[in-house]
Amino acid sequence: MERTLAIIKPDAVAARSTGSILQRAEAAGFSIVAMRLVWLSKTDAEGFYAVHRERPFFSDLTTFMSSGPSVVLALAAPDAIKRWRALMGATDPAQAEEGCLRREFGRSIENNATHGSDGSETAAFELNYFFRGLELG
Ligand code: GDP
Repeated sequence: MERTLAIIKPDAVAARSTGSILQRAEAAGFSIVAMRLVWLSKTDAEGFYAVHRERPFFSDLTTFMSSGPSVVLALAAPDAIKRWRALMGATDPAQAEEGCLRREFGRSIENNATHGSDGSETAAFELNYFFRGLELG
């Protein structure tokens, strides 16, 4: 079993897509280990995306991520990191394959509905950013 940190981003929560995305995650075989609704501050979002601070879209991204509540999730499955990223699809919803979450629920390269850790070190950092050890069991 592997764990990954997933986020239902503010655009998808505002669009009331949370239930549909959770259903898709469970149907694809992910177990929900921990889950919380959080309204990130700009500083919280900057800390979460610190690796992107040199990217040109960093300011827009952190403004978007602090624009409303998100749902943060610890998901578990065999090969969870790779499989959750495959279920999300490409960063840009227009490039994501048919049937992927970002294709279905995303609106733009920034408002792309979901996040997923991109590797095991990132997953460890991101899970720890949102959840205490106790909550992860
Ligand atoms: P991911 O791993 O697929 O989420 O993609 P990245 O790590 O490259 O980017 C992190 C997040 O920044 C993405 O999920 C988007 O929300 C946002 N993002 C990525 N590229 C762009 C861009 O070119 N412009 C803007 N405004 N946001 C972007």
